[in-house]
Amino acid sequence: MSSPTSDTTSPPKPAVFLDRDGTINQEVGYIRDLDKLALIPGAAEAIRQLNQMGIPVVVVTNQSGVARGYYPESWMEQLHGRLKTLLAAEGAQLDGVYYCPHLPDGEVPEYSFDCDCRKPEPGMLEQAAKDLNLDLGRSFMIGDKATDIDVGLRVGCKTILLRSGYGEQVLKGEYQHIPQSDYVFDSLIESYEQILKPYFSHLLN
Ligand SMILES: [Mg+2]
Ligand SMILES: [Zn+2]
Repeated sequence: MSSPTSDTTSPPKPAVFLDRDGTINQEVGYIRDLDKLALIPGAAEAIRQLNQMGIPVVVVTNQSGVARGYYPESWMEQLHGRLKTLLAAEGAQLDGVYYCPHLPDGEVPEYSFDCDCRKPEPGMLEQAAKDLNLDLGRSFMIGDKATDIDVGLRVGCKTILLRSGYGEQVLKGEYQHIPQSDYVFDSLIESYEQILKPYFSHLLN
């Protein structure tokens, strides 16, 4: 979990929730090596533009590799440190990073249960909304899997399915199921240019 700052005096803000793998960084399976973490072209630019508009950007990511025993939970901090470094090099920053290390049928008992945070369960988005004073109904959830769209719909976000990562397979009906997303785009930067930029410009003016 990140170290969010609470702001309860002003009205809740709209935000952008982002999946991690296949959305911000290239989908390469379970990442055990920091060098395998590579940004998708344009992802940092999209986040930087949202930063400049004052829109909170929050990562919500399922990381069952912890429950599967592939790496310890402390690895998440290293990985997300690296992610933040790569983004910072392009002038972009994240307002929060939430991950779910759980899996019902995992290998590590401590992490192997039916949690409230593994997408499509809404725990991470609800926690972020509380921590950062966010208005889920005016926010977006963006990701490359059906479960990203399903969790967004569940909490009342607008949803964008990306063709990056698993998105193309999802749209062909070859992975998970075909979800009812509001929009489909090739990449995060395309979704920013086509939807987020006009939406938030309108909202903020
Ligand atoms: Mg993903
Ligand atoms: Zn969880």
